[in-house]
Amino acid sequence: MMTEDKNPGIMLKPLVFRVDENTPEVVKNVLLERGWNKYNENVQDVGDWNLYWRTSAFRMIDHSNVKPWQRLNHHPGTTNLTRKDYLERHLKHMKGIFGASLYAFSPLTFIMPSDYIKFVAEYSREKEALGTKPSYWICKPAELSRGRGIIIFSDLKDLIFDCATVVQKYISNPFLIARYKCDLRIYVCVPGFRPLTIYLYQEGLVRFATEKFDLNNLKNNCAHLTNSSINKTGASYKKNKEGVGRGCKWTLSKFFAYLRNQDVDDLLLWQRINHLVILTILSIAPSVPFASNCFELFGFDILIDDKFKPWLLEVNVSPGLSLDCSTDVLVKRKLIHDIIELMHFNQTHLRKTKKEPGKASGHWPHISWTEGDKDRVRETSKHWCKISWTEGKKDRDHEISGQRTNFSHFGQKNRVHASSRYMSHNKESHNSSNIFSSLDFKGKVYNRNSSALQKKVRGFPKETFCAKSRERKVSKDTLPSAFPKIRNRQTTFKSFHHFPSSESYKKKKNITPYFLSDKGTRPCSHVGDFVLIFPFNEATLAATENGLDLKKVIHELQKLVNKQPKPEAEDKTKKT
Ligand code: ADP
Repeated sequence: MMTEDKNPGIMLKPLVFRVDENTPEVVKNVLLERGWNKYNENVQDVGDWNLYWRTSAFRMIDHSNVKPWQRLNHHPGTTNLTRKDYLERHLKHMKGIFGASLYAFSPLTFIMPSDYIKFVAEYSREKEALGTKPSYWICKPAELSRGRGIIIFSDLKDLIFDCATVVQKYISNPFLIARYKCDLRIYVCVPGFRPLTIYLYQEGLVRFATEKFDLNNLKNNCAHLTNSSINKTGASYKKNKEGVGRGCKWTLSKFFAYLRNQDVDDLLLWQRINHLVILTILSIAPSVPFASNCFELFGFDILIDDKFKPWLLEVNVSPGLSLDCSTDVLVKRKLIHDIIELMHFNQTHLRKTKKEPGKASGHWPHISWTEGDKDRVRETSKHWCKISWTEGKKDRDHEISGQRTNFSHFGQKNRVHASSRYMSHNKESHNSSNIFSSLDFKGKVYNRNSSALQKKVRGFPKETFCAKSRERKVSKDTLPSAFPKIRNRQTTFKSFHHFPSSESYKKKKNITPYFLSDKGTRPCSHVGDFVLIFPFNEATLAATENGLDLKKVIHELQKLVNKQPKPEAEDKTKKT
């Protein structure tokens, strides 16, 4: 069985996960594969688990009772993004403050019944402008998912609703592949809202409608809705559909490869998606209550139109993790592995036992935490970015500094790494050099393996906060003032080049999303296939340090957006 860590001389407890009846099987299986144990409430205490993963939100009491060594997979307050009417309210609020153009990725939306009069006015205005041409709208229940209760209409008399609903402009010019409509399921992980940190997953899903797109038949859900729950029961699901294949899903990388073949500037599209994700999360970030030790995995549903403009359709918490087809297996299993990596469960301080050579590592409940241990972990958790210092520094000592990765294909190199990684977890350190030697590194690798420094970076149990401060000072004196530039196709924000590249993290297991550098506390740029998209430069990092300076962040984003060609204008996404 694979275990999370092998640290000679330190007995490590297996980590323990807690689930409920709705926790996706893939989560349980991945954790078991990684050597975790399943929590048994009949024989274990409430403090004996490390990760509680459930589909529904936690109660506030669960958040307040969480122990420093525990993590919950939901953050309070995130339903503000995931209910369609709440999302619209938040985006509208942002448009009011920062201007509609920045938030133009959201289709015109009316919340029913309160906006009914406004909607009718807009409907009539558009009808008049279009003359005999029809206009298209989509009506979606605010709280339902999986395409349930959705109607698409062009005539006002077909609008029916009996619950909280949104009526939205129907994007009637979607990007089609062989005349099939598709949308993107983009995974986003927020390891914390304070300070706000956003990771975008480079792999994802493309979900296809299984009937050809046809505006003359608005009632055919299998042509207009891309939900797999709808299409997998459709008559054409199993057929080998020309240009799309069997089933209704592609990986995101296959989609981007397809775009590149069509000579589309996939990087520009990806940048627009980055901005959309950040701007959307910013709309709720200031109102999210403070809660430590939790993270959120979001599923963004994004439709691309025929001008390659991404449109935000909705945001899901607990995005579907069922494995319905081989594409799901490919994407979702690795996604869970990478989330576990991102959440830094590997850190030995979360699971150490007493040093007992020759004895098998104890099971979590048998470990007696000393008060000192508990305090330290509590402290660590409060400043969890800081505990990674030794790891971050070791990391840099080993190989950081200047790899310039040359990714010839979107995410491909990471996937090469990924497929090998979990197959031979125990041999990872061994294999990694082989894996990475196949990567296309350009640039200098500094070996800063000073033995004096190594002594200082000895990890647990010698590490104390005093010691860490000393280490920090030593490293300030010893390490270079900034890392050389990292530039690759996955990170669209080229100016933020002081983070170490993912390669440094791939060579070791004890990774955390944060580390201390000589420039202060910084999140990692990559963990697995997760890429940091926020903060994205020095200014936005500074803008998260003492609460979130929204104005400053938007200002920085606006600068980036201004540099891009406008998607509404000529189709600039096509390479010239
Ligand atoms: P649900 O939560 O029920 O899945 P979504 O908002 O994700 O609701 O919509 C379901 C599907 O309907 C989407 O995957 C997409 O294919 C289609 N859809 C939703 N909104 C629009 C829109 N404004 N324009 C075009 N298609 C849309």
